[in-house]
Amino acid sequence: MVDRLVNSEANSRRIAMVESCFGSSGVPLAIPGRVLVGEGVLTKMCRKRPKSRQFFLFNDILVYGNIVIGKKKYNKQHIMPLEEVSLESLEDNGQYRNGWLIRTTTKSFVVYAATSTEKQEWMAHINKCVEDLLRKSGKKPVENHAAVWVPDAEATHCMHCKKTQFTMIVRRHHCRNCGAVVCGPCSSKKFLLPQQSSKPVRVCTACYERLSKAVKAESSKTAITNAAQSASMDGNGAGAGKIADSSGDDDSEEEGAANETHDEPRFYGDTTLSADESTASSAALNSSHTPSVNN
Ligand SMILES: [Zn+2]
Ligand SMILES: [Zn+2]
Repeated sequence: MVDRLVNSEANSRRIAMVESCFGSSGVPLAIPGRVLVGEGVLTKMCRKRPKSRQFFLFNDILVYGNIVIGKKKYNKQHIMPLEEVSLESLEDNGQYRNGWLIRTTTKSFVVYAATSTEKQEWMAHINKCVEDLLRKSGKKPVENHAAVWVPDAEATHCMHCKKTQFTMIVRRHHCRNCGAVVCGPCSSKKFLLPQQSSKPVRVCTACYERLSKAVKAESSKTAITNAAQSASMDGNGAGAGKIADSSGDDDSEEEGAANETHDEPRFYGDTTLSADESTASSAALNSSHTPSVNN
């Protein structure tokens, strides 16, 4: 389905549009073989609070950015290679509905779609792209993902010592291994997590001990993976809404189009079309799948 879009004019036009919306704040996105599979607005859980972000799903990368002007101008471009992306559906929890985890080796976070249908569409398309990519490259899915950070607001006290209360002056820190919000003394150590950084990164004292032991025990690789997983806040440990962005960057406060009316996401590769109908024109393809024109 997606393959047939590779050399289509519509695809080139769409990618050029994305590039121009990011302008100089983004990198060139048009490379041979790349297809824009879908786009839309998702609510991304950031360190301080949920924020609207524009997402672009390509057949090899997932891109998102801040919305400066809806459908016209984006900045703060982030690019994640799909090869290392894995998704995990989250149960609805109060106001946090239609969410799922997006995890990579360097960054993991939660996003929410407006409806459960949109959630299904997004997840299906992303998963399909990841599968296709891994099949073509023969690589295995990545298993060691960055921890998902607990949002600041979820922790009034250090999650490790349970004593230190956070204030304007007593700052929160995040353990890069488990994502917990901890105080300075409880995160004074650093540990090398090669997947995340070439330099040692801040970890909580509990993770530091676990990771150090794992290295000493020298059953090195598996042990580290296990330690990381047992310490990890993701999976069953944290409910929807309790997890933020693992990169720590809170993106920014500038919110261009915060409350514009909701547009449904668009997906360009229609999965219902058979891959054998090779030379259907791109025009026909476009008109065959236009879920919403409600602006
Ligand atoms: Zn503490
Ligand atoms: Zn930790």
